[in-house]
Amino acid sequence: MKVVTLDQLKNGETGVVTKIKGRGAFRKRVMEMGFVRGKPVSVIKSAPLQDPVEYMILEYKISLRRKEAALIEVIPENEFKELPSQIDFEDKQLPSEVLKAVRSKGRNIDVALVGNPNCGKTSIFNFASHSREHVGNYAGVTVESKKAIFKQRGYTFNLTDLPGTYSLTTYSPEELFVRNNILNENPDIVVNVVDASNLERNLFLTTQLIDMDIRVVIALNMYDDLEKGGDILDYHQLGRLIGIPVIPTVGTEGKGIEELFDRIIEVYEGNETVSRHIHINYGKETEKSLKKLQDLIWQSPGASVTISSRFYAIKLLEKDKEAITFIGRMANGSLINSEAEREIERLEKALGESTDTLLADAKYGFIAGALRETLRPKEVKPEKLKPSEKIDQVLTNKWAGLPIFLFFLWVMFQTTFNVGKYPVDWIEAGVSWLSGILNSALPAGIMRDFLVDGIVGGVGGVIVFLPNILILFFFISIMEDTGYMARVAFIMDKLMHLMGLHGKSFIPLIMGFGCNVPAIMATRTIENRSDRILTMLILPFMSCSARLPVYILIAALINPGQAGNMIFGLYLAGIVLSVIVAIFFRKTMFKHKEAPFVMELPPYRVPKVSTMLKHVWFRGQLYLKKMGGVILIASALIWALSYFPRSEGSKSEQLENSFIGVIGKAVQPVIQPLGFDWKMGVSLITGVAAKEVVVSTMGVLYQEDDPNSTKNLTDKLRAEVHETGPYKGEPVYTSYAALAFLLFVLIYIPCVAVLATIRKEAGGKWAALLGGYTTVMAWVVSMAVFQIGRLLHFL
Ligand code: GDP
Ligand code: MG
Repeated sequence: MKVVTLDQLKNGETGVVTKIKGRGAFRKRVMEMGFVRGKPVSVIKSAPLQDPVEYMILEYKISLRRKEAALIEVIPENEFKELPSQIDFEDKQLPSEVLKAVRSKGRNIDVALVGNPNCGKTSIFNFASHSREHVGNYAGVTVESKKAIFKQRGYTFNLTDLPGTYSLTTYSPEELFVRNNILNENPDIVVNVVDASNLERNLFLTTQLIDMDIRVVIALNMYDDLEKGGDILDYHQLGRLIGIPVIPTVGTEGKGIEELFDRIIEVYEGNETVSRHIHINYGKETEKSLKKLQDLIWQSPGASVTISSRFYAIKLLEKDKEAITFIGRMANGSLINSEAEREIERLEKALGESTDTLLADAKYGFIAGALRETLRPKEVKPEKLKPSEKIDQVLTNKWAGLPIFLFFLWVMFQTTFNVGKYPVDWIEAGVSWLSGILNSALPAGIMRDFLVDGIVGGVGGVIVFLPNILILFFFISIMEDTGYMARVAFIMDKLMHLMGLHGKSFIPLIMGFGCNVPAIMATRTIENRSDRILTMLILPFMSCSARLPVYILIAALINPGQAGNMIFGLYLAGIVLSVIVAIFFRKTMFKHKEAPFVMELPPYRVPKVSTMLKHVWFRGQLYLKKMGGVILIASALIWALSYFPRSEGSKSEQLENSFIGVIGKAVQPVIQPLGFDWKMGVSLITGVAAKEVVVSTMGVLYQEDDPNSTKNLTDKLRAEVHETGPYKGEPVYTSYAALAFLLFVLIYIPCVAVLATIRKEAGGKWAALLGGYTTVMAWVVSMAVFQIGRLLHFL
């Protein structure tokens, strides 16, 4: 029986599907449409120049582009004419002779051998086809490749031995030949032959195959040399990490070759568990460019899933001539190409390196990360190590890595607080100067009260922390731009592994130090939905920069000398809590385990000062925008609620009888066991709008009766005394109450922006769960800290 591709069927003809070729995403899509082996398809409408073509499958009309249909193999109906029985293709259950024919035609696997020169491809080729069926020569245009057909376990293999290449760029005829063979001939499985004694260089080609989204099996050849050398490779784990099954072979002796082809059958039939498509992470900036180009490729009229937009986006950034020509032929190809040029320019300016080098470095970073976790060399010769590797010997060291990271964090928070103190004092002086000016220039009345107490008190209370935020982001930028952030993810990955978690979740967690909202978006890289939700549920324990003003204000109140340490401690407490909660959720709601993942170790770079300043400035702008937006509005609103209804008497009597005073009194019973007064309660409630608003609310609520007072917010807080309740007469901000308050701010419900993002990304149920459990937990922790603290204090 003859097999043809679906696009060759004519109007009204029917065929039975035997095989789907092409890359993973394409196969997945058409299989979801119903194109699976053994299903009849008929052509509804097809004219010679018509694209797409309409097909009927499973009683549904489906249109496919011609080049998509060319990847689906079918047995045409007239091939079944010789069968004794009449076949009704509309019948749900096709006769067994038909299914048998289909199955046997489907058991034809096209396999291509790809690998570096001298890795043993031809040895494997010869051994596999040796004494089986026939071996022949096949002449390419400029380079030769050999073909052989042989059988194993009822499957027929069409094996092609391709020329050796180090890469799939298009600099040499061999490289171009191999790449075109994969892209145009669409082998069902590519066998990547890898020289086990030279893994780093050989796996470079593997990273390019990964980009192509094709089905690959690795023959870990020369395995005898690896063993002889005394190195130990956990190749099972390596396979799991990169999503490609790895089978050790010895080409010259034929060892492992039968296992290799058995595994190929499993992958081909979709019964293999290691095989999955992963994305190599090319770094934050490059990924942004890739996303942009991919979107453009997708939007191009006539774009089809047969090609991988990611692969072509990567190739465009690599300035690959073939890719530029290919994309140029697409409907808006020149637009995509010029956008690619702009992105290349942007990246090269920001990172100070040509983009093809950047991408190659990222690939080597991926390999280094994968090998660092799986390969134990017999001995490491220090003089042979690259500078990056030498640094990594220390920074990602099993024992030293974590303490070094913690030390770095400690330095970061010390600097954020202690260096930030000076500019903060200046801005504070400026704010109180402004409020003095307004006080004396404006006549007493509602306008003056609004500007001085509402706007300057509220926004001014928060804006003073701008220098701290900038310093924090300067440090985060150093971590990101030098490549240290990738090491942190690597170190934490090890730690997370110990607790049944995986490092891929840790990247969004680190991003959470800046702002939780983009961090939640970043969880999109986690393929598994329940892992993604779990990561979202613990993410808010990462103290975002909006919480920093609260931390600084309250920590300085407890003990200015220890504030840096306290802030460091709070960030750590957040990390520890996230781990505990993650383990709890993992044990209860999300029992399944995440697939392991490579943590890239890209080479270190000296960061460009201009790029870092740009990051910091960008953050500063965001902070100022927030001041002019949500914080300004919230301050005005809180001021209005505290100003009305008007009543006679002192400022504090006015406040207590105002709307906000009434609200505060209503929540007081709930927060009393935590030692908070009603003003703190109100600040916590308004802080849900944005965490800085906790501080701006305090700025509005803690007003002085004396309009000429120059006390700053810290002094005002220190002077507060409980006016009612069981703690009447005691100062409000004792060290233990302040600590309880800090922990409450760390743990309780995230801001509305975070909740809205989680609702959008995961669903309202999860946002509600998150808001609920964190608030309950915050209450319990703070209550315990306050009560125990008070007990110890009075002992
Ligand atoms: P190709 O260039 O990838 O086709 O590699 P060849 O199959 O021509 O092999 C290159 C050399 O490596 C030959 O001398 C083979 O005998 C040798 N070789 C192939 N496989 C192995 C193996 O598994 N172990 C060892 N020790 N040598 C091998
Ligand atoms: Mg060869």
